[in-house]
Amino acid sequence: MNHVKLLRMTLPFPSTGKSKDEVLAAMRAARDHDVQWQKGRAFSLVYHAGKEVDDLLKEASLLFFSENGLNPTAFPSLRKFETEIVSMAASLLGGDDNAAGTVTSGGTESLLMAVKTARDWARKNRPEIKHPEMILPITAHPAFEKAAEYFGVKTVYIPVWADYRADVDAARKAVTTNTILMIGSAPAYPHGVVDPIRELAAIAQEHGILFHTDACVGGFMLPFVRKLGYPVPDFDLSVSGVTSISADLHKYGYAAKGASVILYKTAELRRHQMFVSINWPGGIYPSPSMGGTRPGAPIAAAWAVMNYLGESGYLELTDLVMKATRRLQDGVNATPGLKVVSNPEMSVFAIGSNPSTGSGLDVYSLADELTKHN
Ligand SMILES: *Cc1c(COP(=O)(O)O)cnc(C)c1O
Repeated sequence: MNHVKLLRMTLPFPSTGKSKDEVLAAMRAARDHDVQWQKGRAFSLVYHAGKEVDDLLKEASLLFFSENGLNPTAFPSLRKFETEIVSMAASLLGGDDNAAGTVTSGGTESLLMAVKTARDWARKNRPEIKHPEMILPITAHPAFEKAAEYFGVKTVYIPVWADYRADVDAARKAVTTNTILMIGSAPAYPHGVVDPIRELAAIAQEHGILFHTDACVGGFMLPFVRKLGYPVPDFDLSVSGVTSISADLHKYGYAAKGASVILYKTAELRRHQMFVSINWPGGIYPSPSMGGTRPGAPIAAAWAVMNYLGESGYLELTDLVMKATRRLQDGVNATPGLKVVSNPEMSVFAIGSNPSTGSGLDVYSLADELTKHN
């Protein structure tokens, strides 16, 4: 509602400037009604790893506050950070020496790039396909639908099983001669469950088409969850048939906002992501992803936090998150009329009504009440 109001408002352009104190005071006041994430009142919007990590992210961001990743020859520092982030992420996510990737501004951009790459890969390798299609579970993130709209690829949705994982038989039946890409999530956001990536990717491989694992929320957590001894099914680039994977640094990578990675099994695949303009009077203009100007701060902060935490730091944080998740789930299951409805691998889970332990509890009213307690 507020959003609509804002769009309709006409504000005169400020005729004179205000003092820095006035500007900052107005901004502090504007935060009054924001969700109190500092008090643990926000889910999924802010991934806070404590004051020390926050301080590091702020310092690293400030160091590269003005730098621009648009031109890597002007800023070899940013190129080094990006190359190393991609390389570290590839090691974590089953990539070998052929793997290649890009740092993007977020999960959405990573998914846009995966779909754009598949479309351009198909234009070259499957020129007979005039109306490309991609197969995705109904639980896949809406950014795929956005990508399909942007890049002219048709979405073919498949249902999920009773446990909310993608229906493998439905995926197999959905393949046509126009299919260029199949998708699975690790995990999907709505219920927090990992799709049967191995089985889905095998179908893609059989048909010689591409497969993307959306590990935006899980990419920097599942590998550590597994190391801690919890069961995690295979989902990454080491799985036969998986050709690309996305993982958000600004989620469980605990980086500053505006950072994700898209990784491909081979550098050859990544070539289809690249854009180059050669006829512009301004000169040759190459660009790896959606943006032109690319802020240096999120890249610098992501590099900083990966090196600051290391595997041991991520394992400690993951352990904390998993223990907190179990406490929350036990609390939900012990509440009459409520239960955790899925069997998730990590920290994202869905709550539903449980008529067998109590009636009259509507999850939507409960969500409204919880929001009021912010
Ligand atoms: C968060 C998320 C995205 C989108 O990422 P943004 O950073 O919000 O653009 C995509 N897929 C999954 C599974 C996610 O959890």
